[in-house]
Amino acid sequence: MIFLGSDNTSRLVGIIGYPLGHSLSPAMHNGAFQHLGLGYHYVAFPVKPEDLAQAIAGLKALNIAGCNVTIPYKEKVIPLLDHLDRDAALLGAVNTIVNRDGELWGYNTDGAGFLRSLREVGKIEVDGRSVLIMGAGGAARAVAFALAKEGAGRLIIANRSRDKGEKLAADIRQHFACPVQTCDLAMPSLREELKSVQLLINTLPLGMFPQTEAMPPVEPEWLKPPITVCDLIYNPPKTKLLAMAEKQGCPVLNGEGMLVYQGAAAFKLWTGYEAPVDIMRSVIRQQLKRQI
Ligand code: NAP
Repeated sequence: MIFLGSDNTSRLVGIIGYPLGHSLSPAMHNGAFQHLGLGYHYVAFPVKPEDLAQAIAGLKALNIAGCNVTIPYKEKVIPLLDHLDRDAALLGAVNTIVNRDGELWGYNTDGAGFLRSLREVGKIEVDGRSVLIMGAGGAARAVAFALAKEGAGRLIIANRSRDKGEKLAADIRQHFACPVQTCDLAMPSLREELKSVQLLINTLPLGMFPQTEAMPPVEPEWLKPPITVCDLIYNPPKTKLLAMAEKQGCPVLNGEGMLVYQGAAAFKLWTGYEAPVDIMRSVIRQQLKRQI
């Protein structure tokens, strides 16, 4: 179904990635456009690597309002854009493109989406907190930069490839005063570091549908209040890690809020309207019920 605005026109937005798999973003955004009666429609654009430059030029040629960008193009699109927002430039990754009068602007809404989820869903304050992040991929990078900017007291990055963890730590040190260290994603480092943190964030895909039995190398007895455990995975809503943390009495937060709020920020950039986040959340839940 195509939604027409009050002037009977419709503008296109979408998501560019490859392969795209099953993205929840089209349903989430289209539900929001329909709810507000906006003449926008969101589609999935699986773009092969050899076609990326043409696809980005096509946003201008076809007057597409903008798009989300996902794996593997968040860094590769940067040289193809006309302008880069400060946060996206700092991070070196773009997840949202806005077409303003034929000029393409790159933004990154992942970090802001994550922080809003921490604040509004988790009721968690970042200021001065020690945070252990498992992973050093794209999501970990957005989360770590956002936490450093927001005034986290200390960051510890635990990644399988230690050199990638070190690189992320060095990049954060270059821009923020927040102390950052790395550790092994294994015993005994994780157990020792968990004794002094208030927030544990999983950015590893371990536990994500359909591999729901997988989980990061964390033992139940290492998790005790006041540690809050946050998993960026939203499918399933309660990963094995979150279920274990909850059993240990720790507050938990899943990735649904980050998904909704990064989308809400992109929605506002494209349309100028505040996104109906409750509608977006309920669409995601309906979609996930169908998938599991
Ligand atoms: P990515 O860039 O590919 O990074 C993956 C990370 O996981 C790397 O640190 C990698 O370690 C590690 N890893 C992968 N398989 C592993 C294994 N078997 N054992 C140990 N470590 C492993 O992916 P991403 O974009 O950061 O996404 C990561 C997760 O975050 C996914 O589950 C994704 O769905 C979720 N996410 C959620 C949201 C949201 O809105 N809620 C947004 C973005 C991402 P190496 O460096 O050693 O390879």
